[in-house]
Amino acid sequence: MIIGVNCGHTIEGAGSGAVGFLKESVHTRFVGNALMKKLKNANVEVIDCTVDHAGSQEAYLEKAVQIAQQADIDLFISIHFNASGEHKAHGVEAYTYGGKRHNEAVAICSHLQKLGFVNRGIKDGSGLYVIRKTKAKAILIEVCFCDNDEDIAIYKRAGAQEAAADAIFNALCETALERKEGTEDSRQAFIEVVGKIARKDWLERNILLPSVVIAQAVKESAWGTSELARKANALFGIKRNGWDGRIYVKDATEQRADGSFYTVEQTQWRAYDSWEQSILDHNDYIAQRSTDGGKTLRYAPVIGCGDYTLAARYLQICGYATAHGYAESLIHDYIERYQLMRFDK
Ligand SMILES: [Zn+2]
Repeated sequence: MIIGVNCGHTIEGAGSGAVGFLKESVHTRFVGNALMKKLKNANVEVIDCTVDHAGSQEAYLEKAVQIAQQADIDLFISIHFNASGEHKAHGVEAYTYGGKRHNEAVAICSHLQKLGFVNRGIKDGSGLYVIRKTKAKAILIEVCFCDNDEDIAIYKRAGAQEAAADAIFNALCETALERKEGTEDSRQAFIEVVGKIARKDWLERNILLPSVVIAQAVKESAWGTSELARKANALFGIKRNGWDGRIYVKDATEQRADGSFYTVEQTQWRAYDSWEQSILDHNDYIAQRSTDGGKTLRYAPVIGCGDYTLAARYLQICGYATAHGYAESLIHDYIERYQLMRFDK
């Protein structure tokens, strides 16, 4: 997977874009550069298709597409900030060829919507040069309106370029990178996304060690490709057990003490709006699970345990999984093999 990123517009002069409460060409670079850094950290090959100077708008567009074509990219992303005549329009939107609802474009809009922007959806960008001329699947993102005060307030409150780049990166991890199932690219991307959320929650709430969270997420969701991960955003198979949110129904496979397997039909599983919600709920579950009305906590030894070997073994001893060898698999197949303990420090 090679992704071409175009930070929209030239820096100044011909082709330099809109100016509102912030200058479009400055922030397309802030967001685009932050995005490229995140992709590279996740071992995704990135081609920078940004053009800083050109004699004309046409020359700028031609050059950007030329860079993309030479590199034979799989996906082209051009980042922009919108503007409107009355300065009243607001929200995020994305343009594709023929207005096609590519998974990546839909996910990018919905992740940016979560920052607080109105989601204006996918629009027909067939008339846009970079969309029409790029061989690869092309998406032009208008993060928000740079001439609308409310949009810019939302942008800044959410964390500006870092938040916007994060939203786009997470959307790509769930879509473009996921399709390369089983490759090192997609695995590293999955580790980075889950690791960042797990580490933040560990620093804030000190429940389950990040390396163990990541290993469990990898093992239980098959790197985010399982039916529960795809259809219910659930990285861990947590059964309904008193959950009053959305549920997803599918059969469960359990293992008996003698090693044989059996199926429990029509099991109800917890379903989520995002992987982040799934990870936080899994930590809540570890922190709160009790089978005697709260007198004793089932996972008490696991909570706050700073040693991944012990934390994984306590999980199994306390009855987290019926599968034999669950703890040893977390430790050897995932934590040590992928050096996940770097998220614990
Ligand atoms: Zn623009």
